[in-house]
Amino acid sequence: MAGKDRESFSGFESIADREKLLLARFAIHSTDTKGRKYAEPVQEYRGPFQRDRDRIIHTAAYRRLSHKTQVFTNELGDYHRNRLTHTLEVCSIARTIARALKLNEDLVEAMALMHDIGHPPFGHSGEDALNECLIDDGGFSHNRHALRIVEVLENRYPDFPGLNLSLETLEGQQFRAAKKDANASPSLEAQVVDAADSIAYDSHDADDALELGLLDIAQLMEVSIWSHAVTKVSEGRELSPVLLRRSVAHELIDVQVKDLLGNTMLELDRLQLRSAEEIKKLPPVVGHSEQIMHQKKDFESFLMHNVYRHPNVINVRDSAQQALRNLFEILKSKPHLLPENYRLRSQEIGLHRTIGDYIAGMTDRFAWREHARLSDD
Ligand code: MG
Repeated sequence: MAGKDRESFSGFESIADREKLLLARFAIHSTDTKGRKYAEPVQEYRGPFQRDRDRIIHTAAYRRLSHKTQVFTNELGDYHRNRLTHTLEVCSIARTIARALKLNEDLVEAMALMHDIGHPPFGHSGEDALNECLIDDGGFSHNRHALRIVEVLENRYPDFPGLNLSLETLEGQQFRAAKKDANASPSLEAQVVDAADSIAYDSHDADDALELGLLDIAQLMEVSIWSHAVTKVSEGRELSPVLLRRSVAHELIDVQVKDLLGNTMLELDRLQLRSAEEIKKLPPVVGHSEQIMHQKKDFESFLMHNVYRHPNVINVRDSAQQALRNLFEILKSKPHLLPENYRLRSQEIGLHRTIGDYIAGMTDRFAWREHARLSDD
């Protein structure tokens, strides 16, 4: 049964007062939460979304993000982003946007920290390989798996399975996991997290690819959003390639955030929304101007051709995918090699999904180690 986090506590009232002062009418206020699947007493010193954020941070799945691939695996070096540092960059950008738009920053933070928690080892390559292995069992998607983690797999509380997050925090992830529906939008807070994700990876993937030598700056000068940023940061000065690259990475974030804020504020002004509920019936409101949207599209197609499909990236991808496929086959034919809690769970949910859950939870290095160990078995 859905419970409500609305009991009157002095601490909670001060959170409500603060939000009334700081948040817009169209933000999700803590007092309007629909509560949690399993009712819990309200805490005096933390609002419901702060509590969600803390629960997410304390999960094993969140900690393991530090050893999971974003785009480039850790054999390539130590400079580039991993899934955890990407998550923190998304969170930082999303909070900035949320505060400027007077949205609920705590809710945005919780959703941002959760948004990639369902990634298996080896990023999207790992996801594709697992999806292939599970194709007759409903497939695998990192967005759906994130929900599975927070609703079922993280067992840390005696009174309920998963984390028992607020329905608003879950709803953001449910939208990410569902097929896009043109007639429904998630909360503005969830829209902000999506936008921040794209702002973060467009900027940091180019920065990482340059550091790794997969690209050179001259190539990027054909991309308009990049070349404009170069003109802006150099101001006629001769900057060293490293300083130029790093300054451009910041400028790219700044230009996208400013554009997103300007464009979204205009839209919010035009709509004159009175409540968070009204968002659901509208097309997405948080978005870029036409000009930046086109520039981002060109930038992303450049990154697709020159970075994500770079031979060095593809080589690592192929061997990582083969390792996951092998692991899946080995465990399918020798289920006794699974840890005991997984063997027990396989009796309830079937062997294939259990193996999928086990592999999805692995870090890159644990997957390589298990692959080596079980291949010798
Ligand atoms: Mg992401």
